[in-house]
Amino acid sequence: MTPQTREEVPPPATIEAAALHRLFDALHARGYTIVGPTARDGAIVVAELDTADELSYGIGVDTEAGRYRLRDRDDRAAFGHSAGPQSWKSVLHPARAPLWSADRSPDGTVVVREPAEEQHRYALLGVRPCDLAAIAVLDRVLIGGRHPDPVYAGRRDGNLIIAVECTEPGATCFCTSMGTGPHADSGFDLAMTELLDDEGHRFLVRAGTAAGAEVLAELPRRPADEATLTLATSAVADAATRMGRSMPTRGLPDLLTDSRESPHWDDVASRCLTCGNCTMVCPTCFCTTTEDVTDLTGDHAERWRRWDSCFDLDFSYLHGGSVRSSGQARYRQWITHKLGTWHDQFGSSGCVGCGRCIAWCPTGIDITQEVAALSLLRLAAESEGGKDDR
Ligand code: SF4
Ligand code: SF4
Repeated sequence: MTPQTREEVPPPATIEAAALHRLFDALHARGYTIVGPTARDGAIVVAELDTADELSYGIGVDTEAGRYRLRDRDDRAAFGHSAGPQSWKSVLHPARAPLWSADRSPDGTVVVREPAEEQHRYALLGVRPCDLAAIAVLDRVLIGGRHPDPVYAGRRDGNLIIAVECTEPGATCFCTSMGTGPHADSGFDLAMTELLDDEGHRFLVRAGTAAGAEVLAELPRRPADEATLTLATSAVADAATRMGRSMPTRGLPDLLTDSRESPHWDDVASRCLTCGNCTMVCPTCFCTTTEDVTDLTGDHAERWRRWDSCFDLDFSYLHGGSVRSSGQARYRQWITHKLGTWHDQFGSSGCVGCGRCIAWCPTGIDITQEVAALSLLRLAAESEGGKDDR
């Protein structure tokens, strides 16, 4: 994205839904590979799209703890669904990536090859505000330090980000609590708000960068009138009041530090399968491990990087055994890092309130309810302590 001064940002415009095809044309003409939400295998997934027809028109989503179902909507909304199992992490920080390969020649010499450079420039279409925040988190972690991750850097380079503000929060969403949505403030080249009523199916579009403004200038559009601006603002404001979950963020890192020995970890562990689903679907969980493979002759070897999970026993394996051998310790590690020590490490929460870990936990473990339980137990302990002091 190319930053732009406020003076250069063109005024918001309205485009008809049919103009999404022109948006695809404009992005293809610039050489972008377009990635966006589409319905596949019973879920809204993030996939490469050739045309706007592949967007998930008329499909909504019902979520709850441990539950995710597609449903038909009674309109043709293209982005009328909350977060699916994948996030933009699957594009920018892929689940598997080759690191190098090596071949032994007949004369015994070994040639090591690095993977080919990233060929795609991605246009990310339909990024929700919570996921804009998640990309910002990954940016800090993976390219914000002294040793940028080459895979992420290659895939992130030259992105065009088209956000779609959220007017359809799910029952597991809590971005309002985390301050990451449903309005898109920054981090996008274009931001769209989908509007569907008697006036038709259309989008309010704001440009955030010069690159976004250039694309917008190629679309059939009209200046956004006051009524459209007001409608879009109130649709997003209304979404903020319809979040299915909330998270008390005040003092959260301290709560987790104080809860180190809480009896609640046993309770969570009695429900947690340590399957790691929550870390796979989380848009900010970034941990990886490496694995080596060879062919049967032993003449060809490859090293791959793949996602890892702090719920995996091997994740904390040091000489002689795993540091976190129990489910209690592993869940505590995950939630304490995500909501507490992430602040110390990266200056923000590691949670953006997307709700994916709640929907995709097979036993319905709910990060917001676990925090509420820890909070109640600490209150009870403080009140007991107060009695003892009297
Ligand atoms: S909290 Fe749920 S999703 Fe996460 S490891 Fe435990 S059972 Fe799996
Ligand atoms: S911890 Fe859960 S709600 Fe928070 S960002 Fe990760 S998946 Fe989303």
